[in-house]
Amino acid sequence: MPIDPDYKSKLQKTGTHTAHDVWGEKAERPIDMAGYEAQIKANIERDGYLGIHGSVVAVDFDLCIADGACLPVCPVAVFEWIKKPGDSTKDGKLDESDKSDPIREADCIFCMACETVCPTVAIKIYQP
Ligand code: SF4
Repeated sequence: MPIDPDYKSKLQKTGTHTAHDVWGEKAERPIDMAGYEAQIKANIERDGYLGIHGSVVAVDFDLCIADGACLPVCPVAVFEWIKKPGDSTKDGKLDESDKSDPIREADCIFCMACETVCPTVAIKIYQP
């Protein structure tokens, strides 16, 4: 199981960032690393547990390995690199610790493309 689809019932809402909620910041939790153990463990050792950003377009920041595939595939530019505001290009990350941030989750048209392309399945879409 990649991003936990039940995270809203398991994690506390710990803050907001841009126009979305953040869940489970700094809270240790079980994470299915599904073949990306080295990268994900290194991220958590370096940055701690970052939690999940978003409630409609949810990105598990602890699973995100800054692959970048989700940013250009989105037809309505929901995502930007958190360390490079305004940049929605695949390779625009500042460094390997950058994250794809769902800053315009309210614009999502539920095409599901981002869910499909994410290599670690860090994204979950919740259609109202
Ligand atoms: S489901 Fe489609 S529109 Fe919504 S964030 Fe993902 S790629 Fe963008």
